[in-house]
Amino acid sequence: MLAIENLCVSYGRIQAVKGISFHVNQGEIVTLIGANGAGKSSTLMAIAGLIRVQHGTIQLRQQNIANQNMHQIARQGMNLVPEGRRIFPDFTVKENLQIGAYRLRNPQKIQTLQENVYDLFPRLKERERQIAGTLSGGEQQMLALARGLMADPQILLLDEPSLGLAPILLDTIFEHILQINRQGITILLVEQNARLALQIAHRGYVLETGRLVFEGSAHDLQHNNMVRQAYLGIT
Ligand code: ATP
Repeated sequence: MLAIENLCVSYGRIQAVKGISFHVNQGEIVTLIGANGAGKSSTLMAIAGLIRVQHGTIQLRQQNIANQNMHQIARQGMNLVPEGRRIFPDFTVKENLQIGAYRLRNPQKIQTLQENVYDLFPRLKERERQIAGTLSGGEQQMLALARGLMADPQILLLDEPSLGLAPILLDTIFEHILQINRQGITILLVEQNARLALQIAHRGYVLETGRLVFEGSAHDLQHNNMVRQAYLGIT
């Protein structure tokens, strides 16, 4: 569904992503794990059309979308869910959801999507009139995911959904991601929390200073000594 070939991203002289290639099949959860500064967010933002691709191709259903802007890419069914705090804090929960559906014209479709996200996240339904900036961190992350779903995506790009969340909320958020995937939505998940990411992913890639150093099934990664020591804290 998504195939990245030789992707390079630079910020001036700093080369953040140094020619990486990977793919995501339809229906999969694929995770990109790595330490701070490894290039995970840069990769995701380049795929989503938020920053320039210096070299390489990004094929979405066999079409090269490299350097299209984020609106063109969203129209083709691929949406980025940024880290949770980037919701619209002065709007209500419901208004944030409606903004997520801005491209859609059919009110019936929007209604169905909204019912679906309220089924997935009953907490948001209870709080639909609340100003989003007053939600807790976990609720804001749920809202970010829900807003992403309101665009009716086929593939979601998730940027560090665990960031800043209390440990007690982490399992809940990852359970939600699994439920979203079970609805047929393909997921590319960028995460520092490798342990949780590998619990829900089918496959994964390890990024170190802009290069892929390991790839495999989630099971392979969980049992690889290098991954266990460097990313799972198991010696
Ligand atoms: P983190 O988990 O800390 O967010 P990451 O794996 O997502 O890390 P990136 O944010 O993609 O990593 O950063 C990769 C490299 O690019 C880092 O060395 C970072 O300092 C650099 N970088 C990122 N954004 C910029 C920018 N706007 N200008 C200059 N350098 C940048």
